[in-house]
Amino acid sequence: MKFIKRVERSLIVSIPIRKDNGEIEIFEGYRVHHSTIRGPGKGGIRFAPGVNLDEVKALATWMTWKTSLLNLPLGGAKGGVCVDPKKLSRNELEKLTRRYTAEIINIIGPDIDIPAPDVNTNAQIMAWMMDTYSMNKGRAIPGVVTGKPIEIGGSVGRESATGMGLYYVIEALCEKLNIDLKSQEIIIQGFGNVGGWIARLLNNHGCKILAVSDISGAIYYEEGLDIEKLLEWRSQGNPLKSFNDNRYKLITNNDLITTQCDILIPAALENQITQENANDIKCKILLEGANGPTTPKADKILIKKGIHVVPDILANAGGVCVSYFEYVQDIRAYFWDLDRINKELKRILLKAFEEVYSVSKERKITLRTAAYILAVSRVAKAIELRGIFP
Ligand code: NAD
Repeated sequence: MKFIKRVERSLIVSIPIRKDNGEIEIFEGYRVHHSTIRGPGKGGIRFAPGVNLDEVKALATWMTWKTSLLNLPLGGAKGGVCVDPKKLSRNELEKLTRRYTAEIINIIGPDIDIPAPDVNTNAQIMAWMMDTYSMNKGRAIPGVVTGKPIEIGGSVGRESATGMGLYYVIEALCEKLNIDLKSQEIIIQGFGNVGGWIARLLNNHGCKILAVSDISGAIYYEEGLDIEKLLEWRSQGNPLKSFNDNRYKLITNNDLITTQCDILIPAALENQITQENANDIKCKILLEGANGPTTPKADKILIKKGIHVVPDILANAGGVCVSYFEYVQDIRAYFWDLDRINKELKRILLKAFEEVYSVSKERKITLRTAAYILAVSRVAKAIELRGIFP
């Protein structure tokens, strides 16, 4: 307990950039390794105004449990920069990314810690990170980050991976609960990579998506939203609230969380389901697309209400799973096709799902507690076997 409660190392860096107007601005960045006991660190990089060391430590810790739950030979890490990237030009964003990478260069690398995209970071940012790292080492090292563009060592299927994973897990849970997934009405908070992909996959399956939201607000239509049109609208950089369809009702993000539906999918940020709104939640299943969307107090309320909560470390683990495939492909310099990626993803995720589900049934505990029992036990066993140095 003492060992795993703390992170292995935290690095805080100052990132100076010369802005387009000639002024110098300094940003603060972080990279944290929670655990490298089972393998190199793995975890995303977040660019957001609220990023701070405690948040990054918590996210790094979740990554340890996630890689352990899937039994991947990786640990847990996370990074971030406290910045509002919308206020930077493309040129400034590139400078920020490159200087941040240079500042953390000694604690990342294919056999040390492999970053990936998270909130407000994408394939282009990973390309700049990979280039900065490679330029410093004097050779192309694609295995230093995952979530890269395919042309420079990225993997097919990485972009959709977290959404695919959510889909495989909800399909498996519905089968266990004897629920027909097609007939379920869905609400999704967040319409970025994770929210957008799961919306598309469930919509293609025949589910009705009643409401989605982004930071601008939420839209609701009881007959089901046209997801493909909304995705196209988003891809042009438009906010959801200005989507032009007078049948769609504008609601707040909090209304969205408490509207009646069958499956609620928080896929934006942490701490969205709290003790303030948990009592008003009216879904049957809560599928955690985001990391840490439910606070511990809210979780207790949801348990009392009999809502099936599929925990983040299982539900959204598809992303890290395909990131692992990307890393393996990069270091072996041999690439797989989409069919192989999705088959392997499904195999690994469903194995973890079955393990979690059976522990939860055997011990009469929630899926979250069962997932933690499995994940923490594997890390504890590794600590026990390796012993404590010196
Ligand atoms: P993203 O930046 O692509 O999308 C985030 C979405 O949330 C956007 O639509 C944004 O407008 C919306 N949003 C932001 N703040 C909001 C707020 N206060 N209220 C409502 N909506 C808000 O990010 P993403 O990659 O989709 O990540 C979303 C969540 O999923 C994060 O918690 C992330 O850690 C987690 N996650 C992502 C991946 C991945 O592969 N991308 C994998 C596992 C977990």
